[in-house]
Amino acid sequence: MSTGALRGPIPWPYPIEYDRTDWQDCDVLVIGGGASGCFAAMGAASRGARVIMWEKAATMTSGAMGSGCDHWEMAATNPCSLVTPEELADAMVRMHHGYNNGISHYIESREGWDRLRDLEKYGAKIRDTDDEFVGADFRDPASKLMFAYDYVNRFTLRVWGTTFKRAMYRGAKILKAQVIDRTMGAGLLTEGGRVGGRVVGAVALNGRTGRFTVCRARSVVFCMSRPTRLWLFAPGATGLSEFRPPQCTGDGHAMAWRVGGQFTMLEKSLRGEWSGLRSFPPYSTGNNHNTWYACTMVDATGRKIPWLDRDGKELPTVADRYRPTPGQKFYMKGGGEPDFPFYEFQGPETMAVEDAVKQGYKLPFYADLTDMPEMERRVIWGMMVGNEGKTRTPVYGEYNARGFDPSQHVLQSYGDGWRSGQFLPQERQFFGIPGGMVNDWRLMTNLPGLFAAGDVLFASDCVGHAAATGHYAGRHAAAFAATHGEVAIDDAQVQAERTRLYQPLGRTNGVTWQALAEAITRVMQNYCGAMKSDDLLHEGLRGLEELWANEAQALMARNPHDLLRANETLNVLTNAELVIQSCLARKASSKELHFERIDYPELDPPDWHRFVTVEKRADGVTTGSLPLDYYGDFASNYEAHNADYIREETGR
Ligand SMILES: Cc1cc2nc3c(=O)[nH]c(=O)nc-3n(C[C@H](O)[C@H](O)[C@H](O)COP(=O)(O)OP(=O)(O)OC[C@H]3O[C@@H](n4cnc5c(N)ncnc54)[C@H](O)[C@@H]3O)c2cc1C
Repeated sequence: MSTGALRGPIPWPYPIEYDRTDWQDCDVLVIGGGASGCFAAMGAASRGARVIMWEKAATMTSGAMGSGCDHWEMAATNPCSLVTPEELADAMVRMHHGYNNGISHYIESREGWDRLRDLEKYGAKIRDTDDEFVGADFRDPASKLMFAYDYVNRFTLRVWGTTFKRAMYRGAKILKAQVIDRTMGAGLLTEGGRVGGRVVGAVALNGRTGRFTVCRARSVVFCMSRPTRLWLFAPGATGLSEFRPPQCTGDGHAMAWRVGGQFTMLEKSLRGEWSGLRSFPPYSTGNNHNTWYACTMVDATGRKIPWLDRDGKELPTVADRYRPTPGQKFYMKGGGEPDFPFYEFQGPETMAVEDAVKQGYKLPFYADLTDMPEMERRVIWGMMVGNEGKTRTPVYGEYNARGFDPSQHVLQSYGDGWRSGQFLPQERQFFGIPGGMVNDWRLMTNLPGLFAAGDVLFASDCVGHAAATGHYAGRHAAAFAATHGEVAIDDAQVQAERTRLYQPLGRTNGVTWQALAEAITRVMQNYCGAMKSDDLLHEGLRGLEELWANEAQALMARNPHDLLRANETLNVLTNAELVIQSCLARKASSKELHFERIDYPELDPPDWHRFVTVEKRADGVTTGSLPLDYYGDFASNYEAHNADYIREETGR
């Protein structure tokens, strides 16, 4: 096809370049320009590496925190914190009964504050420099830092996250990383084209022109977030299909799975929250968690629902909600919070919805900011709702424009208590800390030369985690590139990737990516829902094979946009297989993993208290396992791998 030709009935505003191939070469290729990607680019560039970063959308605003975030968790080394990185990482691991990523969360706790200072250097706002909250309990007068949740221990910061993404972009540019937008990483290249071989580069598609790009790289960092749309897809409102942004479809997982990447914990999925057409947008309805912590809740008659400490004792004042119980060192809230109460780190909560209903409190409940002290009200409805991802314009801006006044009005909750919708058990998603790629202390995966950061990693969550692991993975990817020689690209693999990716262009009539996306959720809901068994899961694999044999072969694309969406959806189909294989590999039920096997009903038998791993090799899927504490001691391992960084930081 010649440059500039139109395809299909829609006039296409960009030149069509399906026939063109760009060749690139670098030391470190970062794929995904969100929170972890920008910092990976900065980390690698800070080591003198030649860095290219591909971003599917526009780096300036892309990713889960492109539109903001309101708090930054686990910054244990900030000057006001009373807990150590070791204490925090240990708490995160134990609260999840070992099913957590000790390496990445230690890095988050130890380096998160360094990344906040980087952001400040590049123009982000992390302190109350306008003195809007002078005198508030949650503000440190000397540093002007502001805190959320546990006001005594002060390791989670309230931040002006709407300023962050631009600062990250600026940082990457200042450090001379080459940032290339509208470019979807689509396939990995390996030494000799072999499954399980050293990663030597990747191929990409341009979402505007359809151009093909081949990049040779000595190391690659995956920063493409986690899989979505496996169980949930809202064809009438695709942008609302999931909590995370629509362009985050877990492409990295699919790319790695195809060439032998190793994964764990992907058998864990939760009943849906805050997504799709069943739900109101996140944080737009009355609740008392996360952004809204610790808002007063009232019932339909205006009766206050009690706030309780971990022993069930009623807390008389609003200030008590922000303090540990006497005798408790600190409590944990936010993204890293356990799904089930864990007494040692359990914080204040409103009475459970079921208990409140039994005691005569009348649904629906409402968030009542009118009851909060003025500073707390202003920090929730103002700073927090004004900076959280996706809320600034549609919630804060829109509600204010329509006359919502938090000093006078209450806001209704939906679903079971404080959520924004009620989901069916089979409508699932990866929330909290789901599975992902297995990593070592360099954040390298099992594939030599492939590093991972942010939400690609198993048991990942949060901006601080993404930023800290991004920078760390970037540094180690640069070190790998510097110590491993020239790499050769396998021409046959490049050609095979090109053929695979452009297939949907061969059809102008056929199955749309939206139809395939819906069909995948049907298979996953029917055969990989809340209750699982070998029989059901094998039936699910059969369903996926049928989709590959029929709908995927008829998938059509009329323009580069369709082509991108079609390939994303094929990645979702690939990830569905990865998830079903992960579920098949664990032959036991687990409470912590929200994993119910009808055929193996015993909950958490000791033999299965381990990470189960899966990887796809040339001869089929291989399963294995790792001890839950495979990463060893936090501080000594960290120090053994980061002597240069420690030297620089202590000298700065
Ligand atoms: C609504 C919302 C509110 C949140 N609030 C908070 C909060 O207040 N505090 C907090 O700590 N955490 C919060 N989180 C979580 C936090 O934002 C994420 O955990 C974090 O941003 C993850 O960073 P990441 O780099 O892994 O992914 P992202 O920041 O999502 O970046 C992934 C990037 O990869 C790009 N990409 C995807 N596929 C490809 C591909 N094939 N090729 C090239 N590029 C690709 C995407 O376009 C995106 O830019 C929130 C999340 C959401 C959705």
